[in-house]
Amino acid sequence: MEQYAVACASGDGIGPEIMGAVQRILAAAKAPLTWRPVELGKAVYEAGQSSGIAPEAWATLRETKVLLKAPLTTPQGGGYKSVNVTLRKSLGLYANVRPCVAYAPFVATKHPNLDLVIIRENEEDLYAGIEHRQTDDVVQCLKLISRPGCEKIVRYAFEYARKNNRSKVTCMTKDNIMKLTDGLFRQVFEEVSLEYLDIQTEHMIIDIGAARIADTPERFDVIVTSNLYGDIISDIAAQVAGSVGLAGSANIGEHGALFEAIHGSAPDIAGQDLANPSGLLQAAVQMLVHLNLPDTATLVHNAWLKTLEEGIHTADIFRPETSKACVGTQAFADAVIARL
Ligand code: NAD
Repeated sequence: MEQYAVACASGDGIGPEIMGAVQRILAAAKAPLTWRPVELGKAVYEAGQSSGIAPEAWATLRETKVLLKAPLTTPQGGGYKSVNVTLRKSLGLYANVRPCVAYAPFVATKHPNLDLVIIRENEEDLYAGIEHRQTDDVVQCLKLISRPGCEKIVRYAFEYARKNNRSKVTCMTKDNIMKLTDGLFRQVFEEVSLEYLDIQTEHMIIDIGAARIADTPERFDVIVTSNLYGDIISDIAAQVAGSVGLAGSANIGEHGALFEAIHGSAPDIAGQDLANPSGLLQAAVQMLVHLNLPDTATLVHNAWLKTLEEGIHTADIFRPETSKACVGTQAFADAVIARL
């Protein structure tokens, strides 16, 4: 069988633990993958690479065009730039696809019918990194929104809806306040929607949209929004579904793709075998689909679902009413492997 070379980065914090667990599951599922480890983050930055990405890593990424990445810590309020954002921008990964699903009654949630996908613009907005100091007391961050950027992400969202039999796309912006930038995003949404008359559309101001995701998430299907809003509402949706530890994401570009959990490096639980590897595993399943390995993707996904259904849960989703056993990261992986 053809082998697929895939770059992998173990990240930091809980990264190495969840990456180890996921790679063991994929090996047991006989996924035809050859791992090409790449170095990213703090150690690379400290070795003198200001991007936090080693030159050899760029070469590997150019070759494999696919990266499975565990979370990386980004210094807060100073320090080097986010390697995550640099990778997304440098590789042109314009669409961040974040499915959030409730696994009721097996995983406790107040919203058993939650099943939505957030399509987040991934290169522009306040994450474009245009930030500067005006005076000692005044700093500025510029919000960059372009028509081509909006068109690409909005069209991606409608195409995604069509391909995945989803019936509605909701656009979320703050165009009542940011009339030019968010106004352009909404305007492009309205224009492109005319090409997809088979799909229902609606627009919501992001604040009430976020409130409705927290309160009645089942009313949503596909949501398309800009970078920062998409980042925030996908954590809300995943947590409402059960845990931020459950959701994976695909960062898709024209010439490559990066797959990762939606959550961060969780330093508060790192090194304790407590982390839920499900988010990274879901990302790996998205990667298998991207590589056109649907049978392996289904095998892994079903074994994972069976593990959840049998109540074998990591601490973040363990509830005495719905769970049978509270297990650590590696025991969870063993349970998935036993159900392949
Ligand atoms: P976080 O997502 O790392 O953690 C938030 C909370 O959720 C913590 O209590 C954590 O223990 C819990 N949690 C997260 N993942 C979990 C899992 N798999 N299993 C169980 N519990 C889990 O968010 P944070 O603490 O705000 O960020 C920590 C670091 O991660 C920051 O440096 C941030 O920049 C970085 N980050 C990286 C990425 C990425 O690599 N793509 C994404 C988000 C945040």
